[in-house]
Amino acid sequence: MALYLKNAAFIDWQTFKITNTNIKVTDSKIEFVNNVHADGRIIDCKGKFVTKSFACGHHHIYSALARGMPAPKKIPNNFKEILTYVWWAIDKLLDRDMIQASALSSAMYCAKNGVTFVIDHHASPNAVEGSLDIIAEAFDKVGVSHLLCYELSDRDGADKAQAGLAEHERYLSSGRQGHVGLHASFTVGDELLENAVSLAKKYNTGLHIHTAEDKADQDHCIKEHGKYVAERLADFGALDMPQTILVHCVHLNDNEKRIIRQSGHYVVENIESNQNNNVGLQNYASITENVILGTDGMHSDMLRSAKAAFLSGQAIEGISFPEAYNRFRNVHKYISSSGFNNDGDNNLVILDYDSNTELTQDNFLGHFIFGLESRHVDSVISNGELIVHNKKLTRVNEDEILAFSKEMSKKLWAKMEQA
Ligand SMILES: [Zn+2]
Repeated sequence: MALYLKNAAFIDWQTFKITNTNIKVTDSKIEFVNNVHADGRIIDCKGKFVTKSFACGHHHIYSALARGMPAPKKIPNNFKEILTYVWWAIDKLLDRDMIQASALSSAMYCAKNGVTFVIDHHASPNAVEGSLDIIAEAFDKVGVSHLLCYELSDRDGADKAQAGLAEHERYLSSGRQGHVGLHASFTVGDELLENAVSLAKKYNTGLHIHTAEDKADQDHCIKEHGKYVAERLADFGALDMPQTILVHCVHLNDNEKRIIRQSGHYVVENIESNQNNNVGLQNYASITENVILGTDGMHSDMLRSAKAAFLSGQAIEGISFPEAYNRFRNVHKYISSSGFNNDGDNNLVILDYDSNTELTQDNFLGHFIFGLESRHVDSVISNGELIVHNKKLTRVNEDEILAFSKEMSKKLWAKMEQA
């Protein structure tokens, strides 16, 4: 059944041209039409704007239950201690139910913030097998599209690394789209890196890896491998696949920047996470134009990530309105040029934007940077289907997701106290 968006002010996401029209939305495309038909579902968009929905370039559903958790056993003093005492303490305790609660609540927040496509990087070393299916099913249930992977690492020994490879093999061979994930160079040995590259090539995908997030990653690489992280990745063929994405890239030297710029790979900026972990800040324009934005699991709000990239980018690289917007939207170019599915034109957000000044094609970017917020997301269409209507999920019960997540967070936190 077609969906009709009546009386919409449609903003083209690339030209900002605003067209007052009715829009027919199906599971394959959108069309501007003169008349709406009673046989379809009609949403009155009078006074509202409609534009392409949003996508997240790097998320971690595994961190979803951390909100308000008890303090770690030791207050971390640096990046490696943040991993050891916070994130690796949590991910080891995740069981299948906790993964499901984390994925459902993350998908819920994404959808309500207008995010219909999520690239996630998952870790649950004691519940590896089937973890990607649990996440995929939770996202499918809410109606959010995805590109998943598991964080391969040698940090928990050879058995866990093997389980991670097997999980990718199992998931990708089932026909699902995904990446081959790797935690970061400093926890990945040569054999595992080699196996990950082969697996990505076998399934015609790329790697998804934290790259030089902290200086410690570079220090380790120089000491153990006699080269810098991006050089090591290139030497192992990680950049042979155009689908590979490099996350953070905070600490790169000029040669590494040249390698990445020339290869054309996408770099994922997560500026709020870098600020939170105090790992440093990067001038992304000095690396490449191919920058996309993520949340690094801190939240699920891409409009917020764009504002953060703009504000922080002012001081670091004098970022412009168009540059901040391009970074927010480049993820769509990455998804389509990589041959991944489910980010077509029939993914839309309806914005109830209560602006006190007029929004036009010429001043759209000013509204994007200073006006539009996730609270304006009224309804969301994912692959032609209405998944959020009047700020409420349509396919699942939000109260049940929240209650289940609270229950699972209590279970997780109790296990943390006992650990
Ligand atoms: Zn991350």
